[in-house]
Amino acid sequence: FAPWNDPNAKPYIQFDKVTKKFGDFTAVNNLSLTIFEREFFALLGASGCGKSTLLRMLAGFEEPSAGRILLDGQDLRGIPPYKRPVNMMFQSYALFPHMTVEKNIAFGLKQEGMPGADIDKRVAEMLKLVKLEQFAKRKPHQLSGGQRQRVALARSVAKRPKVLLLDEPLGALDKKLREETQFELMDLQQELGLTFVVVTHDQEEAMTMADRIAIMDKGEVMQVATPAEIYEAPASRFVAHFVGNVNMFEGKVAERTANTTRITGATGAQIVVDNGSDAAAGADIIFAIRPEKIKVSSKKPADAVNALEGEVYDVAYLGDMTVYHVRLDDGQIVRASALNASRITEDPLTWNDRAWVSFRPDAGVVLTR
Ligand code: ATP
Repeated sequence: FAPWNDPNAKPYIQFDKVTKKFGDFTAVNNLSLTIFEREFFALLGASGCGKSTLLRMLAGFEEPSAGRILLDGQDLRGIPPYKRPVNMMFQSYALFPHMTVEKNIAFGLKQEGMPGADIDKRVAEMLKLVKLEQFAKRKPHQLSGGQRQRVALARSVAKRPKVLLLDEPLGALDKKLREETQFELMDLQQELGLTFVVVTHDQEEAMTMADRIAIMDKGEVMQVATPAEIYEAPASRFVAHFVGNVNMFEGKVAERTANTTRITGATGAQIVVDNGSDAAAGADIIFAIRPEKIKVSSKKPADAVNALEGEVYDVAYLGDMTVYHVRLDDGQIVRASALNASRITEDPLTWNDRAWVSFRPDAGVVLTR
């Protein structure tokens, strides 16, 4: 499933040069974005970057100040929320407290004028879907947080929208339950065959669930890509920093050959990396590399293209991995992480030990912006 790589795939949701202003404040700035049918799409960004505003415009609660939003080719301008094939899932505290689970789920269907027998059938279907059959007669306060969340979900998909919008859907849940529910949401999306657009500020949540992620900042999209692409090939310093941990080497391109770029760091250290950008000799760049791509060892690896010497500054054992901070002799601090599964027979490096950090030429990315 990768319609974004198929030049013939039909766009499903299209934001076409959309701007949203509140007074003279621009919340969304000339933003274009395409989402495909059945995609699980995440809008990820810090508070205030405009992600909820984007979602609310798709739902019809706000209209763009400029630009168009298309769904399956149809311009949505002027179409009221309830006439759009789009539904918004609200957090579980938006359930009606005095109504049972089944009444909560039936509410929207009743309002729509669905015949009673059909409602009963649909509600039973939804209860089964979210595995709450035996809780049908309970009221929200008699449920756990996770169960309430599933009722909210059942209620929002009961009308069978084509697109489900979720604004920080799991914000009210604790960490463990949030993780479980992320997998449930993914299963449910598959089962229903719907397009999901989720807004979150939690990178792990976006990485876990989404087919693709749009990273947003100040009303603009910084990068749209799969979780793996976002992590492995961030397009800018902003994205590299925003998602996961990263080391940034500032430097200048010293030389470019057919396949490699030699970089001189701000403090004189030289590294050689694969060509991945078009930065020419003399250009100021940043080399961004993830901690797990850096090896720490007590001896200089014989075959390493890039090896820099320093001292272990601190070590943190995290269970699944160990994180090292190494202070290079030029003063830079490097973060390196090693999976503990493969560490047992390796160097037992500890605080204040002399150490080498090394990495392959293809281990990071050269960024020009
Ligand atoms: P959060 O995660 O905090 O909800 P967000 O990325 O979803 O943040 P939005 O809710 O889209 O951000 O808001 C983007 C910006 O637009 C914010 O600076 C917000 O203050 C502003 N904004 C949103 N709605 C309105 C409004 N009705 N009137 C004025 N300003 C608004």
